[in-house]
Amino acid sequence: APLVGVLALQGDVREHRAVLEQQGARTVAVRRPEELAGVDGLVLPGGESTTIAKLADRWGLLGPLRAAVRGGLPAYGSCAGMILLANRLLDAPADQQTIGGLDVVVRRNAFGRQVDSFESEVEVAGLPGGPVHAVFIRAPWVEETGPGVQVLGRVSGGPADGRIVAVRQGDVVATSFHPELTGDTRMHRFFVDLLR
Ligand code: GLN
Repeated sequence: APLVGVLALQGDVREHRAVLEQQGARTVAVRRPEELAGVDGLVLPGGESTTIAKLADRWGLLGPLRAAVRGGLPAYGSCAGMILLANRLLDAPADQQTIGGLDVVVRRNAFGRQVDSFESEVEVAGLPGGPVHAVFIRAPWVEETGPGVQVLGRVSGGPADGRIVAVRQGDVVATSFHPELTGDTRMHRFFVDLLR
């Protein structure tokens, strides 16, 4: 079974590990660079990207995470995890660092500060079985995509109609929403299948 490292500095680490294990993966919490050794994939949880990035920097993890993703380690990020995978950010503190790996511009808290959370049905390319019930919590969206980036899903309807909320570039996948909080395991299955 593939071994998935879950970045465990802050955020909904436990929820991701539970869903990944349900899909037959093994998981390991990653807090130190050594814990990246031997992982087949990496999951970046939802949470607070500014905090996660600061802690990763302080613990000497940012460099090793960047090297791993640049070196081809498959990665999946939800919400704050999407922000961490973006090459460029909007509406972020000027000194906010990312791991990068996705040639996208991501806007933090894009749905508006007053809209704390929002739910919508999102059709995700490559996920059979109908739209995903997507939960957005102070979520980002993808404002621009580079040429190698495939758009997997967009919001349909409402004020955010058409906004990009799921993307893929090679083996790096990100969603603005949190499938780990809904009981819908298809996004994690998709990622674990990628590692097999
Ligand atoms: N707004 C958070 C951030 O900028 C992301 C929210 C989330 O992961 N639910 O990191």
